[in-house]
Amino acid sequence: MSRSAHPAGPRHADAMTEGHYTAPPADLNALDEKVWARTVTRNEDGAVTVGGIEVTRLAEEFGTPAYFLDESDFRARCRAWADAFGRDADVFYAGKAFLSRAVVRWLKDEGLNLDVCSGGELTTALDAGMPAERIAFHGNNKTVAEIERAITVGVGRIVLDSFQEIARVAHIAQALGKRQRVQIRVTVGVEAHTHEFIATAHEDQKFGIALAGGQAAEAVRRALTLDGLELIGIHSHIGSQIFDMAGFEVSARRVVQLLAEVRDEHGIELPEIDLGGGLGIAYTSEDDPREPHEIAKALGDIVTRECEAAGLATPRISVEPGRAIVGPTAFTLYEVGTIKPLEGLRTYVSVDGGMSDNIRTALYDAEYSVALVSRTSDAEPMLVRVVGKHCESGDIVVKDAFLPSDLAPGDLIAVPATGAYCRSMASNYNHALRPPVVAVRDGEARVIVRRETEEDLLRLDVG
Ligand SMILES: *Cc1c(COP(=O)(O)O)cnc(C)c1O
Repeated sequence: MSRSAHPAGPRHADAMTEGHYTAPPADLNALDEKVWARTVTRNEDGAVTVGGIEVTRLAEEFGTPAYFLDESDFRARCRAWADAFGRDADVFYAGKAFLSRAVVRWLKDEGLNLDVCSGGELTTALDAGMPAERIAFHGNNKTVAEIERAITVGVGRIVLDSFQEIARVAHIAQALGKRQRVQIRVTVGVEAHTHEFIATAHEDQKFGIALAGGQAAEAVRRALTLDGLELIGIHSHIGSQIFDMAGFEVSARRVVQLLAEVRDEHGIELPEIDLGGGLGIAYTSEDDPREPHEIAKALGDIVTRECEAAGLATPRISVEPGRAIVGPTAFTLYEVGTIKPLEGLRTYVSVDGGMSDNIRTALYDAEYSVALVSRTSDAEPMLVRVVGKHCESGDIVVKDAFLPSDLAPGDLIAVPATGAYCRSMASNYNHALRPPVVAVRDGEARVIVRRETEEDLLRLDVG
């Protein structure tokens, strides 16, 4: 959804007239630093390297398809977010974007907190040593078992998503003899996607409790009466791949308004607000994401101003970037297989993966870029569509792009900015073996999630 304001349905756009690329880029060998992880560059032989290692060597050692994650870039982004928000705010990495035990350790080292939204994510976080108090538990339908476990291990907060859940969490906490720190997730009436925010149909979705009609105020009223709950604040998450701060502005203003109402009614000032995640990254050269310090300043200014106007002390702010931290740090490496030129249309380039390792194009009509990375080429550009090997015509990885016309089977191509929501949404469709995630840093490559094997497939199939 990096370009379209419409979350639903693929556009059947003619690439030459309406697609992302209207003209080939000036230099197909150039790597736009906006979309590639920080240590990605080309060496003198023309091969792309990451963390100092050629992709050709990585392909030999780890096979394709595979995700290669630039660990120093990941850590630098964590630090940039932590530094930008400083001591008076908390940064929670949204684990659903991509979570593994190595990632949890990096987050821990770099001082970030972690959002989880399932028992599986919680297990991964705890197993890798994330202190429970630095974990926030999310989800619109947490099971009783998940809630019991979260409270028992002592997660720092549970974000309550419905009236039933307010009662459920309070009941379970009380039965366990605990008082659980909670936030209430509200829907503020804006839904932000891409460059725009849409102030319609926002309440017609499954998350949160509406501010409209006094629902959220009623949720606060109930939470405050329950002994099992310590209400620490209000949470709002307005969408994903957002570039425009206007949606956050409306969201922050409405959340602060609720804090003022709570103060007027109950005589208490809730100490925290969480403004969610959703900050956009560059998938193609046309995307212009904001830097963490700009985002921190914009959000801080909005909240401070609104609180001053309402006569409230400024609450502690938290944010929950997922994509903005991990997305740009990884690329997917594929080997080119069949190449099929369709006269007058475009050339279909098939790779050894597809919708099983990147569902976002099929699911959200997402835009990606692609480059030939095993060598350079001076051949003319050709318009391509990069497709997978699955039994679906919608199995598209990159809709419209240009690659050199001398592209041949066996070449390696890479799709940048696949760190978020690709491995974490990967599937076994067609009994594909999910690719490994390899962390690369300072000339060393290390598998952090191994490739699935046929034994893995058969082990689950108990016959
Ligand atoms: C998905 C999600 C995030 C992270 O979104 P990104 O687009 O990856 O930044 C943060 N908070 C909540 C509650 C979410 O559901």
